[in-house]
Formats: sequence, C-alpha cells, structure tokens
Amino acid sequence: MTPAVTYELIKKDKQTGARLGIVHTPHGSFETPAFMPVGTQATVKTMSPEELKEMKAGIILSNTYHLWLRPGHEIIKEAGGLHKFMNWDRAILTDSGGFQVFSLSDMRKIEEEGVHFRHHLDGSKLFLSPEKAMEIQNALGSDIMMAFDECPPYPASHEYMKASVERTSRWAERCLEAHSRPEDQGLFGIVQGGEFEDLRRQSARDLISLDFPGYAVGGLSVGEPKEVMNQVLDFTTPLLPENKPRYLMGVGSPDALIDGSIRGIDMFDCVLPTRIARNGTLMTSEGRLVVRNAKFARDFRPLDENCDCYVCRNYSRAYIRHLIKAEESFGIRLTSYHNLYFLMDLMEQVRQAIREDRLGDFREEFFEKYGYNKPNAKNF
Ligand SMILES: [Zn+2]
Repeated sequence: MTPAVTYELIKKDKQTGARLGIVHTPHGSFETPAFMPVGTQATVKTMSPEELKEMKAGIILSNTYHLWLRPGHEIIKEAGGLHKFMNWDRAILTDSGGFQVFSLSDMRKIEEEGVHFRHHLDGSKLFLSPEKAMEIQNALGSDIMMAFDECPPYPASHEYMKASVERTSRWAERCLEAHSRPEDQGLFGIVQGGEFEDLRRQSARDLISLDFPGYAVGGLSVGEPKEVMNQVLDFTTPLLPENKPRYLMGVGSPDALIDGSIRGIDMFDCVLPTRIARNGTLMTSEGRLVVRNAKFARDFRPLDENCDCYVCRNYSRAYIRHLIKAEESFGIRLTSYHNLYFLMDLMEQVRQAIREDRLGDFREEFFEKYGYNKPNAKNF
C-alpha cells in the first residue's frame, strides 16, 4: 500500500542545509517549507477558501477538539467530511485535540487510558483517548492526522517528562492500531521530550520504529526562550528520517519560520498572523506595524509598501486604522488577509532562497530589515 501522504526532497540549501520539498496528499501537493493557516472552527477566521487560494495556501489546519465539541464530528461526517463541509478541496491537517485539552481545560486527569477533563465552555465531563482522537479525525477525513500525545507544561522535570514521553509512545501505537483509513489519511507521530536531548532521542526512536509517514516536533513554542527552541531543533531534526516531512507545531513568527527551515523543518502552523491582525497588528517587510497608532491617522500609504497583496494594492493605513478603531469587521478581514499573505509570501521567498543556495544570506537581510537585530526590539 502506498502511504496516503508522501514527501519528495527536491534539494538542500548549500548554505544552511534547509530542505526544499513537496508533500503529496490525497487533496493535492504543496511545496515546503510551508506555513499552514489555522482554521480552528473549520474556517480561517474571516477568510474565504477563494481568498486562501489567492494567497496560494496548499494546506490549512483545523482543530479536532473544537470540531468534536461543536458542531460534532458526526455532523461533519454526514456532510461528506470536512473538505466538503467547509468547501475546501486542498489539503487539511487536523491536530489530535490533545493540545487544547492540556491548554484550555484546567480540570483534567491523565490516566493510561486517556484524559478526563471538563468542557472549556459549559463545564461538562469529557474523555479523550488515542482511540477517540482517531475516531474523530477519521470522521473529519483530514489528509494529515496527528497522533494523540501529552503536551506537558514548560518547564517540566526530567522525571515527569520521561514518564510522559513513554506514555506518548504507547498512545502513538494505539493511534496506529485505531486508525481506520490509512489508505486515504496519513497519521503523523509527535516527538516530545521538552528540552532534554536524551528524551527527544528516546521519543524519536520509539516513533520511528512505528514507521509514521511524517513526524512533528511537539512541545515547543510553549513559553521557552527562542534559543532553547533552536537548540532543541538542532539535536532533534537530525534524528528524523530524511524521506518524510517534519512539522514544527505552533510556530508562526517570521524569525522562527526562517530559523526552523534552516534546521530542517518542512511545515509550520500558528494562529499568530490572524490573532494579531484582529487587534490591528501587522507583519510588514520593515517589521511590526500597529495600525491603531495615532501616527497613522493621515498615513495614506499601504500597510506594507513592498507587499503586492490585494489589501496593499487597494487600501491605506489611514482607512484600515479607521475600520479597526470603529470595530468594523471589514477591517479585521483586511488585516488578516495581509498578515496571512505576508507569511505565505515569506515562505515562497524562503523556498526561492533554498533553490538558489542563499538562505543564510536571506536570513541576515531579512532579520536586519525586520528589526530582529535591534536590541530589545518588540517583535513577532
Ligand atoms: Zn499586503
């Protein structure tokens, strides 16, 4: 049986070793390194599927936890699956629900069987297990499913993390057994282990022995300093198979996308671009721009003078500032569009730099222009 999801390595950047590749899925292929816009509730907030295609999104992410609780995975299955339900015919990745259980719910109890917790809105009792996470994701019909793992808080002790890694490996095995549609959905394993090299090694070894079609690096971007994330990637990605995609979960700031690519990561996702857009914060080629600020009241230039997106071609900072201040939903649509486009375009520039063996130079230029090199720079 050919796996539902496969990876093709095109070339490596001679300066950094970053990978240019293609991930093939039942709903089309996308080039990597890639950023995946997040559509938590089966919608990338305020964006239509047509707009996502305009910005060349080949894959989006959706959240199992939220869709399970509302509207319920049975309804989505009845609709013909998540692609049909939300009118998106390209690839979809769903998480396992684990991260939300561990981050949203404070009343939780972890057992070998799974996790007992309370609904983050109505307080009702719920239970999520490897088998349940597979049942929900099989019903949603995502192209890439994620194994159910434990997401320990940061920082956690070595002792706690070791027990957690071992449980996550046992859960991964149960996920594989429970996965009922391996011919049309690819299941990725998640390497955990916090900042401990021996545990990352143990986790990678356990999961690779189960032969998943792709691997995620989990448990990062949970509050640790950026240097720690980069150090963990430095010793973790080399443990992963060359012929399978690697996904760094929950990362979407421009510097982390570039630094992750340099460390051999192929896929990223984050709510950051749309979340900051909703309060009027933009990513631009010259750094962070807070369009609410008074100094933009009479600024009739586009959000980013170097951006050719629909928003920057048609609207001014002054107009968008007005919309955001007046709490008009069109303002949020425009800022969300620009921020997503900015990251999609950044990843295209990263891929182009890999093609031309100059990602190291690109990083230096980008960091300088974006302001990452300034001391105490406020940045995303
Ligand atoms: Zn723009």
